[in-house]
Amino acid sequence: GSRPDDDLLQGLNPQQREAVVYRGNALLIVAGAGSGKTRVLTHRIASLLRNKEAWPSQILAITFTNKAAGEMRERVEQLVGQHAQGMWISTFHSACVRILRREAEQFGFTKSFTIYDSGDSRALVKRLVKEYEADAFGLTPAAVQSRISKSKNELVDAEAYARDANMSDPAERKFVEVFGAYQRALQKANAFDFDDLIGQTVYLFRAFPRVADVYRRRFRHILVDEYQDTNHAQYALIHELTRPVVGKAAEPYSAGGMMIFEPEHAPELEPASLTVVGDSDQSIYAFRGADIRNITEFERDYPGAKVVLLEQNYRSTQNILSAANAVISHNFDRKDKRLWTDVGEGEKIVGYTGYSQHDEAQFVADEIDVLRRGGMAYGQMAVFYRTNSQSRALEEIFIRAAIPYKIMGGTRFYERAEIKDALAYLTAVANPADEMAVRRIINRPKRGIGDVTVETIARYAADEGITFRDALANASALGVGPKLQTSITRLDAVLAEASAVMLPSSGEIAPPTAVAEGLSVLLDKSGYRDALRASRDPQDEARLENLDELVAVAREFARNNPDGTLLDFLTEVALVSDADDLEDASGTVSLMTLHTAKGLEFETVFLTGVEEDLLPHRISAGEPGGPSEERRLFYVGVTRARQRLYLTLAMTRAQFGEVSVAMPSRFLQEVPAELIDWRQSPGDVNSRGGTQSRALNARRPWGQRRTDDPPALRPKSTAMEKFPNRIPAKVRDNGDMELASGDRIRHEDFGDGIVDAVTGEGPKRVAHVRFDKAGAKKLLIKIAPIEKL
Ligand code: ATP
Ligand code: MG
Repeated sequence: GSRPDDDLLQGLNPQQREAVVYRGNALLIVAGAGSGKTRVLTHRIASLLRNKEAWPSQILAITFTNKAAGEMRERVEQLVGQHAQGMWISTFHSACVRILRREAEQFGFTKSFTIYDSGDSRALVKRLVKEYEADAFGLTPAAVQSRISKSKNELVDAEAYARDANMSDPAERKFVEVFGAYQRALQKANAFDFDDLIGQTVYLFRAFPRVADVYRRRFRHILVDEYQDTNHAQYALIHELTRPVVGKAAEPYSAGGMMIFEPEHAPELEPASLTVVGDSDQSIYAFRGADIRNITEFERDYPGAKVVLLEQNYRSTQNILSAANAVISHNFDRKDKRLWTDVGEGEKIVGYTGYSQHDEAQFVADEIDVLRRGGMAYGQMAVFYRTNSQSRALEEIFIRAAIPYKIMGGTRFYERAEIKDALAYLTAVANPADEMAVRRIINRPKRGIGDVTVETIARYAADEGITFRDALANASALGVGPKLQTSITRLDAVLAEASAVMLPSSGEIAPPTAVAEGLSVLLDKSGYRDALRASRDPQDEARLENLDELVAVAREFARNNPDGTLLDFLTEVALVSDADDLEDASGTVSLMTLHTAKGLEFETVFLTGVEEDLLPHRISAGEPGGPSEERRLFYVGVTRARQRLYLTLAMTRAQFGEVSVAMPSRFLQEVPAELIDWRQSPGDVNSRGGTQSRALNARRPWGQRRTDDPPALRPKSTAMEKFPNRIPAKVRDNGDMELASGDRIRHEDFGDGIVDAVTGEGPKRVAHVRFDKAGAKKLLIKIAPIEKL
């Protein structure tokens, strides 16, 4: 006979269908990327509703992000019409907030509790570390915060921690004290931190079984996407919700904000049905306490669970899948599974090695242009990178090329708070009359200069008829306490020192490096960098990287504009950040980190910065399981692509404040060579018509393109033929090339030129070359595509 959900089953393969119609208590769907896990969850919900096996209010579906929740809800509504209201489709955190808002009064909070984000809880920890003089025991606020968070993710609260702590260790004793005080302070403030949202809900369910029963009765179907990234507290929450309902209560009780009178016949209920889907190859949040064991031990925790494997991938071409399969098979600690597709081989993966990250970004921009003109919408293309600071080079080139983009889950480089702060410091030097800039930095980093003092300074400046900035130089006249005086005088001295570097007095010309140097003075002597360094918040690490990136921008500015002044630099930067409003109807290219990319899909994916120390990231080297987790991250990135995948890297990368020689990622070597077509330039003649590539080439920074060059200028290394990629280590190492001023050289792109000078040492030797056509350039000798004539 026909079922109301027949049409829902139409678009599914037999395994997917089995997962949708299965009606046991526990169902585990394990499958590789793009095999339809999320689709199965969605159709399963729709099928339950369509068959009237569940009311919407009996469904709790957990997704990893709010965006994914929104998409799932929309999809379910499409499948079942408007009857989807009352479903809970949300993240763990928002589901717990809803529960806690109703139940907080059960245990000493009120409904209007505050949620402390990690910045708020950091501030609280900081205060307590000071109050308890914990830094004397080597306990920094960041370390304390992260230990508290880890502990809570393991459901070890302050009391439990104290019970098991080694109290003969004074540092441990101190930590216990601070942890306890932290928890009391939260309670007093009627606040939950992020980890508490989950942990306290579990506590609530355990301490008040009657309350838990209300939710167990309510949620008859619980579904969790991306189960591989749940931590222990989240696991426990699900476990609480899927216990059998005890049965009817003898007495009325209060729950959900009301008194519950159970009817005499309130049935004892089976546990709710639980469906989890996940892919252990995509577990990328171990650093936040996610535990793959939640998946691998599911069958033990839920005896009799049904396991469905999905193996057909509907997202990607065979070439993309083969690359993903090959790379992930290098992780030794996994069950082998093979994804296949009947989409066909598809295009080859395109590889490109730029000379620098700008060259790499330019290639990406040019390719986006080519694809766009071929009819692919911007919205179907995405660019991934490992760390946030990598977006800067891409953004600059995209802005110049008028490619509309948006940064997902992050802020544009020049809009980031730390970058704005640094630019405000520069502005305070360049234009002391800019009171806004001085006000912005006056207490960043924190120097105890509060609003009251700021107003005192402003009043003094007005009375004396001098600028706000000049008033800082007269701290002793302000009538503030000695500590404040010192803070103000120090800040004034730092600004003065930086001015001396960047704006030398009459007649002298500041060297082009002055902006970068002055910026370093400002960031170092103001204590700005130290404040970030002292923290172990990964965010603050990223902020430091971003600042280094800004210093690199200033250095590069100096190279390109030997006469450029501080004001020129600020003008250029302001123009870049002003050109923001680029969105048009055909959408925008999405830029995001690999972590943000999970669960998404795009027609075209550019995976950039595929270099050692970046992907795998160097911080992973010391972590247990670090390189495996980085490989999974690479796997996540590759498997987002439907039709086209680009793997790009750069030979040199200005990063962490200096230019370094990059090495190709080990993951590139793990992709079978025949799957990658290494390009020499965008719209390469190998694969496209010549006219288009010439049009593009005209926009290249160094004018003439290799494809138009006489054959003699093409690289002729034999390594090149074996592995036809411009990868530095294999292709070229000019480390021992003896160059001196007066030598004539030939460069692959710039043509012939004469060496003016050689500076630097060892692998960092730089040739200053005047090219006949391309003008003056500086080249890193070790890797530049040059030969001596
Ligand atoms: P990830 O591991 O990346 O989260 P996933 O396993 O959740 O992937 P989905 O996002 O559900 O995979 O599906 C990947 C793509 O394949 C989607 O575009 C989905 O609509 C499509 N798809 C899945 N199953 C089928 C099917 N049976 N027929 C047609 N398309 C399908
Ligand atoms: Mg999915």
